[in-house]
Amino acid sequence: MSKPKVAFYWCASCGGCEEAVVDLAEDILKVVEAVEIVLWPVALDFKRKDVEAMADGEIAVSFINGAVRTEEQLEMVELLRRKSQMVVAFGSCAHIGGIPGLANFSNRKGVFERVYHTSESTSNPSGVVPKTRVTVPEGELTLPEFFDTVNTLDQVIDVDYYLPGCAPPADLIMDAVTAILEGNLPPKGTVLASKKSLCDECDRNDSKPEKLQISELKRVHLTEVDPEKCFLAQGIICLGMVTRGGCGQRCVNANMPCRGCFGPTDEVKDFGLKAMSSIASIFNIEGEKDMSEEETQKLIDSIVDPAGLFYMYNLPSSILRRRKMED
Ligand code: SF4
Ligand code: SF4
Repeated sequence: MSKPKVAFYWCASCGGCEEAVVDLAEDILKVVEAVEIVLWPVALDFKRKDVEAMADGEIAVSFINGAVRTEEQLEMVELLRRKSQMVVAFGSCAHIGGIPGLANFSNRKGVFERVYHTSESTSNPSGVVPKTRVTVPEGELTLPEFFDTVNTLDQVIDVDYYLPGCAPPADLIMDAVTAILEGNLPPKGTVLASKKSLCDECDRNDSKPEKLQISELKRVHLTEVDPEKCFLAQGIICLGMVTRGGCGQRCVNANMPCRGCFGPTDEVKDFGLKAMSSIASIFNIEGEKDMSEEETQKLIDSIVDPAGLFYMYNLPSSILRRRKMED
């Protein structure tokens, strides 16, 4: 009997999701034994034309990581959608936009200006920038178009399931692969992780006071952090309240607060808005000692880069989606 065909593809991402597959360690042998990998650009030498030559629906499942921000990525995910019975958005960037999605606070012009002209590490005396078409003596060279807006995978193609995380942890990947191979899958559109919030699963949750109130915010790198105590109880912003659980508390276990890479729980529509309102609700604005308007403003102003904090992983999937810009 022929094995189910599986494809892996990466779009705008850091490569961490590819590492996550390699991190399956000896479990990867079980995967390779059970499936036939037909595309995995980071590891195997298959070409786009190999996928084009397949019949529609011939691939059982495509795992696609990364957000979609270039013409080439869009063409590839549309091609894989046609050729696949199932598409899984793999990792934060495909799922909710991820770190590349922060570029939606700018646009192509702003990104190119920073990357090719003004960044501290740029040396580009002749001001070269990439162009989609360049004529050289040998002929015409082309590059894919770089879009103004970063998209999540389901903003450009139909997605069947989501594997969250930056990167998805090995146990969740194996659970998903096993469920797919056994045909034991939840309804289409499910995020294949916990239904609970990270706080619900967190070992530090017991140290969070029932009536939590913050009157001063601290930054994690400027504070001696108690490794047993809830970050919020220490005045450090942690977004576990609105973040889906299932990561194994990776950051908290490393004594760092959660930044929401698993995206929102099912009940939350817009991660950033919910995170902001959750944090605002524990500000000691009307606490035992009422804060003056000035003190309240000072507390709000002490949140460094609120847009980058609350939308760190999710801007393209938020209601805002991107910053409105003239050009
Ligand atoms: S806020 Fe952070 S540290 Fe506190 S219980 Fe939630 S996830 Fe754990
Ligand atoms: S603690 Fe938060 S940011 Fe860290 S891996 Fe888990 S979900 Fe992601």
